Amino acid sequence: MIVLVLNCGSSSLKYQLVNMDNEEVMAKGLVERIGMEDAVFTHKWNGQKKEVTQSIPDHKVAVQLLLNALTDKECGVIASMDAIDAIGHRVVHGGEEFAASTLITDEVMKALERCSDMAPLHNPPNIIGINACKAIMPNVPQVAVFDTAFHQTMPAKAYMYGLPYELYKENGIRRYGFHGTSHRYVAGQVAKVMGKPVEELRIINCHLGNGSSLAAIKNGKCVDTTMGFTPLAGVLMGTRCGDLDPAIVLNVMDKKGLSTSEMDTLMNKKSGVLGISGVSSDFRDLGAAAAEGNERAQLALDMFHYQVRKFIGAFAAAMGGVDVITFTAGVGENGIEDRAAICDGLEYLGAKLCPERNNVRGKDALISTDDSTVKMYVIPTNEEIMIARDTKEIVAE
Ligand code: AMP
Repeated sequence: MIVLVLNCGSSSLKYQLVNMDNEEVMAKGLVERIGMEDAVFTHKWNGQKKEVTQSIPDHKVAVQLLLNALTDKECGVIASMDAIDAIGHRVVHGGEEFAASTLITDEVMKALERCSDMAPLHNPPNIIGINACKAIMPNVPQVAVFDTAFHQTMPAKAYMYGLPYELYKENGIRRYGFHGTSHRYVAGQVAKVMGKPVEELRIINCHLGNGSSLAAIKNGKCVDTTMGFTPLAGVLMGTRCGDLDPAIVLNVMDKKGLSTSEMDTLMNKKSGVLGISGVSSDFRDLGAAAAEGNERAQLALDMFHYQVRKFIGAFAAAMGGVDVITFTAGVGENGIEDRAAICDGLEYLGAKLCPERNNVRGKDALISTDDSTVKMYVIPTNEEIMIARDTKEIVAE
């Protein structure tokens, strides 16, 4: 079975074509700056790469373009569109409607529209991508895989906010959590690497990238996570502020005379390690600036490491202990110094980092010492393969 995995953002589209007989990635690529005259289309296949700059007015044109590339004589990997058996879409917000991946039907489309209220930036492009595929390939089954679904197992005590109960009932105000596909992949993969059933493990997964979240995963089920009603909550991130005293929002809007959308931009795009350092949202730039003595870059890094460590402690308490701590995503997989700084002070939990083993990037690897009672691993995330696996399973049903 051949599955096309799509991840549509507001002006971008990432894709992978996966042969599910052996989980081989046949081709992959990216369309950026959709809606612009100088949109960029990058296609990779068989170790080769092609990049084209051209006008790409909308997502439908982008989907058509990638299908042309996939079936092209020179850079194609399949003879025709008919070779694609199913399409799996990453969908950011499934609200309380979806606790698992689902076949996309008219009913599901209506539910996705309802969830858009809660993710106005993310869900609409996902829906546009699904509609574009429907228009071009009406007979190919499509599956939605949600960022929020894995977190639907959280108990009410973890997902409720201390606000009037009506806000939950009437407006859906609660913690949903995000990066669920990544957390689910890493939990399954680390269990496989350890040779233990995921049902017997208490895992804290640290998904640390431009956006970051931690999840407490007990016996294979998420029991708590740091992101909340939106992906703005939890640890401070590249440009997002993370947890705040909510009264700050009112105070700043009042004092600076900001509208809701200006405050939204401040918290989502101008905060986090970028806002603190004034240097960059990229952790590599911060590391370099801090090494040259930039105190604000160092402060941003210190805050990030401290907040991640603090949540590890909180989630160990939430699960009555922890067996495994995993690191994934850009910083988690590559940030050797970041991991060392985060783990410095976790020894009381029984988590001891091995400096030699920690000197690793981008592959499944044990990084704790032999006498560390809590095992620590780097596990590169693979959301696309989870989407492809779910799609295969649901279409085969
Ligand atoms: P992601 O959102 O998962 O793509 O992660 C992006 C983040 O990973 C950026 O802040 C990068 O700076 C960071 N990253 C990538 N490589 C490294 C590295 N070698 N050391 C530290 N951070 C890295």
